Amino acid sequence: MVLDAAAKISETFLKPLLTVMDRDEPKLVDGKIRVHPHLGPIIRKFGEDGWINAPFSLEEGGQQLPASIMNAATFVFGAANYSASVFPFLTTGAANLLRSFGSPELVNHFAPHMYAGRWQGTMALTEPDAGSSLSDISTSAEPTNGPGLDASGTYRIRGQKIYISAGDHDAVENVVHLMLAKIKGGPPGAKGISLFVVPQKRLVGLELVDNDVLTAGVHHKMGYKGAPIVHLMIGSNDGTIGYLVGEPHQGLRYMFQMMNEARIGVGMNAVSIGTAAYYASLEYARERPQGRHILEKSSGLQQVPIVRHADVKRMLLFQKSVLDGGFTGLTTLLQLSLRRSARWRRRRKGRCCFIAGSADTHRQIVSFRNGYTNHECSRTDSGRSWLHY
Ligand SMILES: Cc1cc2nc3c(=O)[nH]c(=O)nc-3n(C[C@H](O)[C@H](O)[C@H](O)COP(=O)(O)OP(=O)(O)OC[C@H]3O[C@@H](n4cnc5c(N)ncnc54)[C@H](O)[C@@H]3O)c2cc1C
Repeated sequence: MVLDAAAKISETFLKPLLTVMDRDEPKLVDGKIRVHPHLGPIIRKFGEDGWINAPFSLEEGGQQLPASIMNAATFVFGAANYSASVFPFLTTGAANLLRSFGSPELVNHFAPHMYAGRWQGTMALTEPDAGSSLSDISTSAEPTNGPGLDASGTYRIRGQKIYISAGDHDAVENVVHLMLAKIKGGPPGAKGISLFVVPQKRLVGLELVDNDVLTAGVHHKMGYKGAPIVHLMIGSNDGTIGYLVGEPHQGLRYMFQMMNEARIGVGMNAVSIGTAAYYASLEYARERPQGRHILEKSSGLQQVPIVRHADVKRMLLFQKSVLDGGFTGLTTLLQLSLRRSARWRRRRKGRCCFIAGSADTHRQIVSFRNGYTNHECSRTDSGRSWLHY
């Protein structure tokens, strides 16, 4: 039933936008990223239908959807239109990070809007001078001593972030960044990194007011050009307020939860895009008559579908075996990761290194191998695969 619903939403809303979103990339207009106009209703539909918080508990308004089913559904969404699918599921990851480590006050303030698809969630780690080396981030946080949403008060945030997926766009009312920054006077390096919620706009009473998070530029990522990757300037006018999540200086440890989920998700989506390509070439191979079977070479005979030629079968089997292998590996890793992170949350300590390393290695292998499967897809489809639709 859940997968039927995922297939229906994919066929009705996501797949029809695949080509147009790829062609008509997000644009920065008057300081705001403009995305495809159908994305707003799609993200809200994901919220209204309960997809964004589907894996969370019933008490939180979720459906306690098992990770295996949720993952299978996101696989379908990614195969239909990866660009469109990243918006709601980044919000799921950001909300999950918040509910794992944030105070109830923070969760109650932000999460319902995120679950409803009105507010976008992001992960904001990378800076122009700190990519892999997050210990070198320079985004800073300074206590304001003003009242906040919980006992931690508020912090003034200043810095820059780059490559932030869905970091700004006009399909939602607000963007909630789960952002790494260093509290002034804290320990140096990775031990001084804390996690903050930094909204693009602050909710004051019933009104959303500007929080001095400016969009300086937009990038377009190969393979999912419909989703904006954003360069942000934070606190350029000293007006950005952030809210501390959990304990100070524990930010990188917390952020690994979302990073690992994202790594597994990226690998999974490489497989889902490859699977869509595989089925497209399988369909073509079954329908395209060309030449005769090697054992029936008379020119008087009808041409056979190319799927009957050994080399085409080889290409299709290669694609299927790489994709099946990648899917199985990633599903196993996801289960392991969830078990570990649940145990980790209970004990508030432990090791995520194994998961982090495995998730990243697996993501890279699967995405890399998938390049080959897509290459075999284009060889199976041959002339047709080089056409621009
Ligand atoms: C599709 C996509 C989406 C993204 N979305 C987000 C997002 O939403 N939020 C966000 O914060 N970031 C995002 N990023 C950014 C991503 O997190 C960074 O690209 C990543 O952390 C690497 O940083 P970098 O690109 O600066 O590479 P660099 O740090 O410059 O690294 C370049 C190369 O050098 C290697 N290298 C670096 N240091 C060492 C070392 N000490 N030893 C050995 N090798 C090393 C790296 O492994 C890499 O191969 C996204 C990136 C991509 C590709």
